[in-house]
Amino acid sequence: MGITKNVILFPFMAQGHLIPFMQLAQLIDHRKGYSVTVVNTPSNIRTLRASLPSTSSVHLVDLTSPGGPENTDAITHDEFYSFIQSIELSIRPSFRRLVSDAIAADPENPPCIISDVVLGWTVEVAEELGVFHAFFLPIGAYGSAVFHSLWTQRPYAWTDSDELVLPNRPNIRVHRTQISPMLLHGDDDDPGFKNFRRQMILSSKSSGILINTAKEFESVGVEFMEVQTGTPIWPIGPITRCVTNSPSSGNACIEWLDQHAPASVLYISFGSENAISAPQMMELAMGLEASETGFIWVVRPPVGFDFKGEFRAEEWLPKGFEERMREKNRGILIRGWAPQLEILSHASTGGVLCQCGWNSVLESLSNGLAMIGWPLWAEQYFTCKMLVEEVGVCVEVARGNESVVERGHVERIVRSVMDGGKGREMRRKAREIGKVLREAVGEGGASVRAMDEFLVKAVE
Ligand code: UDP
Repeated sequence: MGITKNVILFPFMAQGHLIPFMQLAQLIDHRKGYSVTVVNTPSNIRTLRASLPSTSSVHLVDLTSPGGPENTDAITHDEFYSFIQSIELSIRPSFRRLVSDAIAADPENPPCIISDVVLGWTVEVAEELGVFHAFFLPIGAYGSAVFHSLWTQRPYAWTDSDELVLPNRPNIRVHRTQISPMLLHGDDDDPGFKNFRRQMILSSKSSGILINTAKEFESVGVEFMEVQTGTPIWPIGPITRCVTNSPSSGNACIEWLDQHAPASVLYISFGSENAISAPQMMELAMGLEASETGFIWVVRPPVGFDFKGEFRAEEWLPKGFEERMREKNRGILIRGWAPQLEILSHASTGGVLCQCGWNSVLESLSNGLAMIGWPLWAEQYFTCKMLVEEVGVCVEVARGNESVVERGHVERIVRSVMDGGKGREMRRKAREIGKVLREAVGEGGASVRAMDEFLVKAVE
């Protein structure tokens, strides 16, 4: 009987990271000769256990609770850096113990670790215990490379036009407004900020980085990432979603979509972590109404309010907006968690307005949808930049949740993407990319071969 390699996966505690890590877990677990253990905080493990198919043989193990918030759902942006720090402090000892126990149980066949890039310190544990370590990036190569460059090149040397020239890619310029305020205005002496920078620096120290992208789609980003980190890169994506960890709101919105013309509806969501401001929300609603486009909008309370709290339409949206849109059969609001994949794959959906979170980008392009970008956080600004400048499937409508957004601007962009020739051309390109993405993970595809190569390396 052949040896079974134990692969320990350690995702960061945010939805946008847990979901693709679970996809990766299933993918490796389905291969002969590997068993997979996913580790995380107790509350996340409970949720993952409830959503994992009963047929799955992925092991789920909880590590010591940090004694505070156990995932990013429970923290604000201001608490983000200190959360990363507290996770390392509280979980590092139990993670180290788990790995060293696994080594002691079978010294001839030690486990290998694949962890989240935000948990850079795991590479130190692996080095100390002498086991193979790689990172998995659930975000795109281009966005990751720019993000890595910005974190490692502080303090910034601005050009006269308020841009940064990236040392490893002088042809890529980043404008001041494309850097999220948390990074731009971060205090280099703040312990939490410093610690996050350390994680970024550590991300170049492992044996390589798996990225949830396809080389043919993101060749510029993959090459940039190789140069930027100096480590081997394995583009193994897109790995598609196979578990969701929240109940969807059922079929009501799918039935609503059934009543609409092909490619006529715009889906709007800002992901699982971010919200826009109350004034922005008001202008977005008015612009949408003026555009006369059909829409499904996943609404969350604006910045400054409880993200998971009740959505008060009468307070944050124009008077009578929701009722008017419903009566005219023009648009619906979804409170809570939307069945995003089902909506995006519906023939009536023609476009997506989103924060350019990587999962949403892959899901949109896989379904051949034109995009309207409104980046809000971290690498989303650069993902949006790439989709607009390099790929041509996206128009940026706004940046961040502090900018002034004007309804007429929203209306013009929504119309041009949903009605005009520009939108048709963007959908054509998106369909082409969708094909590239499917081929990459199809039989003999480049991403499947990259995964084969990686696994060989991991057991060597
Ligand atoms: N998602 C969903 N319903 C929602 C909001 C998000 O199914 O109401 C899913 C979405 O399909 C994607 C993930 O949650 O797979 C969000 O990841 P992404 O990288 O787009 O953004 P993040 O939430 O990390 O900002």
